[in-house]
Amino acid sequence: MGKDILRSELLQSLNTLSNDEIQSLSFSLTNQIIKFIKMHPELIEQIGAGYLPLKAEIAPVYQVLLHAVPLTIAYPISKDSGMGFAIPDGMPRGGIWLQPPFIEVTPDWLFIPGVGFGLDGRRLGRGKGFYDRYLKNSEMMKIGIAWSGQLNEVLPVESHDCHMDFIITENFCWDVKQQVKF
Ligand code: ADP
Ligand code: MG
Repeated sequence: MGKDILRSELLQSLNTLSNDEIQSLSFSLTNQIIKFIKMHPELIEQIGAGYLPLKAEIAPVYQVLLHAVPLTIAYPISKDSGMGFAIPDGMPRGGIWLQPPFIEVTPDWLFIPGVGFGLDGRRLGRGKGFYDRYLKNSEMMKIGIAWSGQLNEVLPVESHDCHMDFIITENFCWDVKQQVKF
């Protein structure tokens, strides 16, 4: 199946989730993320990147997350050449892109949204290739964030597609390299 067909099928199933369901999934996801960070405490010392969720998108509940673990989180900013990341001065404001004032940074690790993920680390995004271009030749730790309904065994990828090191869902954390759930 081609990327575009699978993308629209996965987006359709995402759109069947109600706002309440997305909120409840996001809280469960946040608990999984807290467990993940406690197992990778080195991430606390580093700069992380999150994302500002679209309407039908599971996402970390940042207030709960930051209350449990003192992370430094940057958010996507729009740049002529693609995307960048920046730390807001105060609460993050904006739609997909963080609005100023902010300070641009280079994150060490990223929470990455997607439309679909494979347990081999494959990712299908929304079709603009922003993360693929930003992460080209980078060594940053890539943590895919998904509802378990977005996991797919057969996911078409192209050579430019970035691969995840970990995937976190509302039910479990997944180590792509070790192929183990925790
Ligand atoms: P997504 O990752 O959002 O699902 P795609 O992987 O389909 O989207 O990529 C979207 C577009 O971005 C494609 O046309 C692709 O050629 C382009 N693209 C992705 N990575 C790069 C790159 N490293 N350099 C240039 N163009 C890229
Ligand atoms: Mg891609």
